[in-house]
Amino acid sequence: MASSMSDLFPAQRVSPPTTDDYVYPPLPKALEGVNFDLASSLRDSKLQEHPANRLQARQEALNKSLDYLKQQQSHFMGFQANQKMSFDELNDFLNVHINNIGDPFVEGTCTTNTKFMERAVLDYYASLWNANWPHKSALLGDEEGNSYWGFLLTMGSTEGNMYALWNARDYLGGKILLMESGGDTKKAAAPRLVYRQAAVPPNAKPRQGAQLHSQNAPTSFDTHYSFAKATRLIAIPTFGVVGEEKYPGMCPITQDGKWPDEVPSYEEGPEDGTIHTQSLAELVLFFARRGHPIFVNLNYGTTFKGAYDSVVKAMAALMPIFQFYGHDKRVIDAGGKESVRTGFWIHVDGALGAAYIPYLKLAAEEGCKFEDGDAVEVAPEFDFSLDAVHSISMSGHKWMGAPIPCGLFMSKRRYQINPPSNPIYTGTPDTTFAGSRNGLSAVFYWSYISKHTLKQHIDKAVNCQGMARFIYNTMKELGKKLKLDLWVARSPLSLTVRFRQLNHDLVLKYSLSNETLVVNGVQRLYSHVFAMEHVTKELVLMLVEDVMKLGHKAFKDLSDGIAGGIDGLATAMDAPLVSCVPFQSRGFTGN
Ligand SMILES: *Cc1c(COP(=O)(O)O)cnc(C)c1O
Repeated sequence: MASSMSDLFPAQRVSPPTTDDYVYPPLPKALEGVNFDLASSLRDSKLQEHPANRLQARQEALNKSLDYLKQQQSHFMGFQANQKMSFDELNDFLNVHINNIGDPFVEGTCTTNTKFMERAVLDYYASLWNANWPHKSALLGDEEGNSYWGFLLTMGSTEGNMYALWNARDYLGGKILLMESGGDTKKAAAPRLVYRQAAVPPNAKPRQGAQLHSQNAPTSFDTHYSFAKATRLIAIPTFGVVGEEKYPGMCPITQDGKWPDEVPSYEEGPEDGTIHTQSLAELVLFFARRGHPIFVNLNYGTTFKGAYDSVVKAMAALMPIFQFYGHDKRVIDAGGKESVRTGFWIHVDGALGAAYIPYLKLAAEEGCKFEDGDAVEVAPEFDFSLDAVHSISMSGHKWMGAPIPCGLFMSKRRYQINPPSNPIYTGTPDTTFAGSRNGLSAVFYWSYISKHTLKQHIDKAVNCQGMARFIYNTMKELGKKLKLDLWVARSPLSLTVRFRQLNHDLVLKYSLSNETLVVNGVQRLYSHVFAMEHVTKELVLMLVEDVMKLGHKAFKDLSDGIAGGIDGLATAMDAPLVSCVPFQSRGFTGN
């Protein structure tokens, strides 16, 4: 029996607060009819006090927290997260510690895992993305390493993107592959290996001192902000950094030869957000000629504009360059053994798009139509049916909808790097990013996939597209009624519609995300909404009604934009912050 003493909070042993004032940020203003002060409710249930003193306050705080979340959820429109979900059947899973630590295809000794579900989920996406499945080891006859490999993420696509960069860095840098290691992890610690390029045609222009150690990471302007973080974390210099350092004044895509940080994204017009294939090709040519291995990230659904890079078009432009300069088959001298690899890595960041465009493609092929009779358009290919694609990442909470962030990374066995260690402790190879891995998300995925028919998946994809069209038309109408140009825009096939930024209260009411975009040399403040599954016409019309009530006061800024922004860098330069990472069009969070 515990003594009553041990139940008491040992006030003399822990630090008291330095102030009684509530110093943390306030929550969004309560909406009409739902009037509560969550902050003080939480404060009254002080976690430092004896539980008996807070029983009532505790229940109240929980109730209010849930009320708060439900209220915000019911208006949620600005982020690409599906708020419609029904996982009640999984309640009992919440009281088990589920941990998929280590490789999904090796059980290990942490047996409360759901790798059996994880593998089924991975197989499902492997089939959807035209990868070679099921996953097979060399023992099962996959000697070439053609079969897929992947794992469910504990974060969202951010983790998948980081893992892709890490994998690419070591693959391109000549680290021993898993297939080559014979199970010896010590080999991973081998120093960087020297490579020579194979089969450079005799008429090739001379390479000017191949840079063996610098992977370049061309990414596009509309790349997710997680890439800025990932390239820094994984220490891969972007082409802009390498260019400025080693080839100053020589950038092939700018007039003054200065190196931009990212590849421009205006393929189909000034605002569309897809990678500019011609610029990408010129940059790749510049570095491929000089022997640099190259990492290219293509976006399959950019965060703010929801634009789809055409992976097919990009590869059509890049493959001849890679082939000409021997980047399609580089021979790595791995301590006397030859290892033939590509000198490039193509990653598809399909955070949102990879999860649903395959269904939209099926819809288009079956001749599905929208309510107004328009045909569903075909989306550009992005998956493993394109041999050049090395890896794909996808978020689980975006299209599927999940109570927690989650996601999926997929690549091929032949690209896997020998993990740095092989802990006996877990009994499963340490091939993933984290140690402990979220095993609950495998259950969410499995439940979701197994519950739906293919027709339901297709209908959902078509309905969300239809909703994006509805939002676009509705916002256009709204602009006419208000006699104000709302700058309404929607990139092709995108689930998001962007328009003139709304005022602070509306932004919080509808959880809108905002971004500064540069249009025709002028900086404009935008909000956007995402037509995720839970978004109904009623919700859209509620937003419209709120705007109508306020008229022009519903908007943050009525000017035609802020002149002077040339390329989006201006904002970053003027900011007193120490970051030199440009943030044009990257935002997932508000600014
Ligand atoms: C959302 C998003 C990410 C990051 O995904 P998280 O799930 O937030 O980690 C990466 N890339 C793109 C294009 C995204 O839209």
